[in-house]
Amino acid sequence: MTNPVLLIHGGAWAIPDDLVEAHLNGVKNATAAGWRVLEKGGSALDAAEESVVVMENDEAFDAGRGSFLNRDGKVQLDALIMDGATLRAGGVGCVEHIANPICAARKVLSESPHVYFVAEGAERFAEEHGIPLCKNEDLIIPREVERLRAFQASAEAQKEDLFSSHTISHDTVGAVALDVNGNIAAATSTGGTLNKAPGRLGDSSLIGCGCYADNASAAASTTGWGEPIMKLVLAKWAADRVASGNLPQWVAAEAMNYLKDRVSGHGGIILLDTQGRVGIAHNTPRIAWALKTVKGFESGVVRS
Ligand code: ASP
Repeated sequence: MTNPVLLIHGGAWAIPDDLVEAHLNGVKNATAAGWRVLEKGGSALDAAEESVVVMENDEAFDAGRGSFLNRDGKVQLDALIMDGATLRAGGVGCVEHIANPICAARKVLSESPHVYFVAEGAERFAEEHGIPLCKNEDLIIPREVERLRAFQASAEAQKEDLFSSHTISHDTVGAVALDVNGNIAAATSTGGTLNKAPGRLGDSSLIGCGCYADNASAAASTTGWGEPIMKLVLAKWAADRVASGNLPQWVAAEAMNYLKDRVSGHGGIILLDTQGRVGIAHNTPRIAWALKTVKGFESGVVRS
């Protein structure tokens, strides 16, 4: 029997002081939900999904209801979940009518021969597999309507500089888990970036970019400016370095150096291997994270 481990992130950016408590509460609640699964002997896959559901339901994060709005004022969500034991994966992208896209992604993993569904096809698949659809308005909250209005009125938006809209905040959520059977899994869910073009897919739900899991290497979830992360296929890059014998904490830090040096990217990463060794790193001022093991619970907004 392996001692379970659960590691969570709730985005990497300059989380302001007045939002720290909400982020710490969010990752704590997510950890509690995932840990309930693991301590009963449940799978890493179920634990990762449960943890992410809690954060999708928490408006503090850019996932599920309360996500950033795209340029048209709509919520458009992406999520991926992956099982390190079997390499089965499920992803959904650009969905507008699913409150918990990670559950739809899980259905893709468990009940489809395919790996990835987008937009209306993803929603149809989800509905056919028992996931209720909602109105897009049900996912929109006043805070985000105001945030989009302010951004679109700002000089930043006029610059049409891709970078400017990606420096504001990154509240994507993710979880990596190790279960009693020694299997690892990863899950990532996001509303993407503020004012994104409709149909833009970020890194979060792309296999190997925002999420990856393989018992032979590591489980990884990333957050941050998606375009640079995608170019480096960063989650897989990191997992491969763990497979080569490097410690997850060293690899996580190296991944952030690589992201910055190679493509001027910014963000954060969590990593976990089947021995229960973890890595947490960010090249942003803060990252919301939480770690639960049989020895106890830790959380924070900085990790050095
Ligand atoms: N990586 C996400 C994206 O670019 C955003 C985030 O992590 O907050 O869609």
